[in-house]
Amino acid sequence: MFEQAVQVSEAYRQGASQMQGTLRMALKGCLHCRTAQMIASPELGTCTDCGEDLQVLEA
Ligand SMILES: [Zn+2]
Repeated sequence: MFEQAVQVSEAYRQGASQMQGTLRMALKGCLHCRTAQMIASPELGTCTDCGEDLQVLEA
């Protein structure tokens, strides 16, 4: 019982770290304003401040 709980939490921890890696890859930002935000849709769109095309930010 207890060992199962440990395994589950271990798997969850590994999944969470993988999730962080994915999130880090899924950032878009404006090179002009040096802002970054989560990619929430397939389209990057443009910066709301200056209108520049947003770039995918990779860690
Ligand atoms: Zn901008």
